[in-house]
Amino acid sequence: MQVASSEQTEPGTLDPQDWQSLRAQGHRMLDDMLDYLEHIRERPVWQPIPNEVRTPFHEALPQSASDLAAVHDTFMRDILPFASGNAHPGFMGWVHGGGTPVGMLAEMLAAGLNANLGGRDQMPIEVERQVLRWVRELFGFPESASGLFVTGTSMANMIAVLVARTATLGSSVRHEGVAAAGKRLSAYASAGAHVCISQAMDLSGLGLDTLRLIPMNDHYQMDIAELARAIASDRDAGYTPFFIAGTAGSVNVGAIDDLAALADIAKKEKIWFHVDGAFGALAMLAPEIAPSLAGIERADSIAFDFHKWAQVPYDAGFILVRDGALHYSTFASPAAYLKRESRGLAAGSPWPCDFGPDLSRGFRALKTWFTIKVYGAEKLGAVIAHTCALARYMQQRIKEMPELELLAPVSLNIVCYRYRCKDPDRVNADIVVALQESGIAVPSTTVINGRFAIRAAIVNHRTTANDIDALLKATISFGEKILLPHNQNES
Ligand SMILES: *Cc1c(COP(=O)(O)O)cnc(C)c1O
Repeated sequence: MQVASSEQTEPGTLDPQDWQSLRAQGHRMLDDMLDYLEHIRERPVWQPIPNEVRTPFHEALPQSASDLAAVHDTFMRDILPFASGNAHPGFMGWVHGGGTPVGMLAEMLAAGLNANLGGRDQMPIEVERQVLRWVRELFGFPESASGLFVTGTSMANMIAVLVARTATLGSSVRHEGVAAAGKRLSAYASAGAHVCISQAMDLSGLGLDTLRLIPMNDHYQMDIAELARAIASDRDAGYTPFFIAGTAGSVNVGAIDDLAALADIAKKEKIWFHVDGAFGALAMLAPEIAPSLAGIERADSIAFDFHKWAQVPYDAGFILVRDGALHYSTFASPAAYLKRESRGLAAGSPWPCDFGPDLSRGFRALKTWFTIKVYGAEKLGAVIAHTCALARYMQQRIKEMPELELLAPVSLNIVCYRYRCKDPDRVNADIVVALQESGIAVPSTTVINGRFAIRAAIVNHRTTANDIDALLKATISFGEKILLPHNQNES
């Protein structure tokens, strides 16, 4: 067998023979995505996926090659129009960020570089460390604090639970397991906390029942007196309280726990104080909202997402830990093939893989770094404040509309409301589906004090007052339509 000369294409390579035509195709693909973002308002927010679109995606493993242009056409025809639509200004479901053109371009650069940020001495890791320094600065954490990009706050919360477990049981827990310590641990979060905190207890081997869900006060914050009572009664019963998770921006209504009061209790009781600030923590960027996060600077760890309020493309979660040495001792593991050196590419220890469960890691830091550099912290803070102003506007409009009813006070950027009628749970569930299928707007749903709610979380920087008006107007018109006698007979 002959070895191919450098003039010929190597049989093993996946690079093109004709870079010129790849370049032209690449430019078309880039233009298509810029067109998508420039004209996104002209599209429906979301549309149901027809069977003719879904079915071809059950094809067998393709053995032979296809033209890049043809695969791109399939993307444009079958994938792009049927995404969840969170880039669209009418998207207000769950808590989704909108993304930005800058973030998209940075993702392209990161993909081209194909950096693996598990470790080694490379500038991409310096970029991640730069973001860590900015995060420390934002939250008033010391230089010894450590931090790491992860998929999202779910993973960040789990890392916090594991570090807190090490703090309480010592690093021998890594060898002997939780049971060997002979202690029954207990943890605390608001009844309005995100379910991923329970899941973190489960995944870390502590068990779902470790987490006590503390009742909320009238402002949907964790009730501090109830928390103190729960801790005392657990101590009496022989438990070791080890973890308090405050929520900064609750998923249901956007409530912020009294973080300073939680910090006081945690300090007095010597319990780890964690903040789940998935979206809310970055309100630190908005000077008019930051004061409501007072106490967050005293946390032992903070979990949050750049992919929500900071508009960085998915995914870009982050965990910040005050005690970097403890964080390191929770995850660092020796392995011959990961040996560190003082010079050469294997220098630069500690590596990001010493602070979390991932070894291979993508360059999430780059799209975040670009977003912060290009837009600046001030502008990102202004976007956050603007979404809160829109939520207050929406609250005001709802109060003025006799057909609608507000179900929870607006504290940040989340508005829960419903259409007034008989059998409101059923009718409002139908309204939400009709809204989503109409392509006009995408709210999601929740239950507030046993009442079914239409929930709009205004996160996207593209959303305007017109989008809010369109949602409210359509809510009323779908409500009226669903209540027509002929529709009631149907269901
Ligand atoms: C979104 C959210 C989470 C989960 O974060 P992911 O990035 O989706 O893993 C956790 N807590 C709160 C309060 C959230 O809003």
